[in-house]
Amino acid sequence: MEARRKLILGLTLLLLPVLGGASYRSTNFTVEAPTSQIARQVAERAEFCRSAVAKAWLGEVLPPWPVPCPIKVKMTRGEAGGITSFGFAGGRVSDQEMSVEGRLDRILASALPHEVTHTVFAAFFGGPMPRWADEGASLLSEDRLEHQRHDKIVSDLLGRRGDFPLARLFKMEDYPRDLMGFYGQGYSVSRFLIEMGGRPRFLQFVRDGMKSGWDSAARVHYALDDVRELDRAWRAWHKVNTETIASREPDTDGTVVRASSVVSDER
Ligand SMILES: [Zn+2]
Repeated sequence: MEARRKLILGLTLLLLPVLGGASYRSTNFTVEAPTSQIARQVAERAEFCRSAVAKAWLGEVLPPWPVPCPIKVKMTRGEAGGITSFGFAGGRVSDQEMSVEGRLDRILASALPHEVTHTVFAAFFGGPMPRWADEGASLLSEDRLEHQRHDKIVSDLLGRRGDFPLARLFKMEDYPRDLMGFYGQGYSVSRFLIEMGGRPRFLQFVRDGMKSGWDSAARVHYALDDVRELDRAWRAWHKVNTETIASREPDTDGTVVRASSVVSDER
């Protein structure tokens, strides 16, 4: 229930004031955490992720934000989750704030890179990004453990035909009831598109899809006739990938790891 839990935990976190604790200010983040050491570790990791993610997706680092993004950190013994909320005005981010919680190692490896990726996308789009792409592509910044978990989620999803046709997925503005399946499908489709054309092209595709329609964006960026063709290509890719995983020797490097996280690789 990870995806659902993330949202619920996130909402709970926003309602709870941080009592006591310490804070640490880096160039772009102000972190409140139970100890100064944790606050500093989270701030440094957030700065690293902000640079690495922007370089990988936009080809350059972002200029410093005029106002640092606040991060509230809550330590628990469980897996990590987080939430980031944004305000937009005049095609730019007007305010943003982040909360993460869980075990420190999981926050640093999974929740924080994921949430920081949302901030890079928000800076690029200057407005809301389609949910499937925002969540799916942010999952790519998490570590291999989360990738494997989501590979399994999407296989189960397709097995029980719980997935959405891509023409519908691309236009969904609200999170559906099956949140985990939705995250899994968004992750898989994002990964497929990135294996075809890389990260910057993926963002151009999403930007054009929102502006000029998804059929036209599929033609321009991936030389596919329309979203139906894209849908077929993704399903075929998924099938081959699943077979590759099933037959893979433990140490061989298959297609499946090519799009793995730019962030976790450098830890
Ligand atoms: Zn997210």
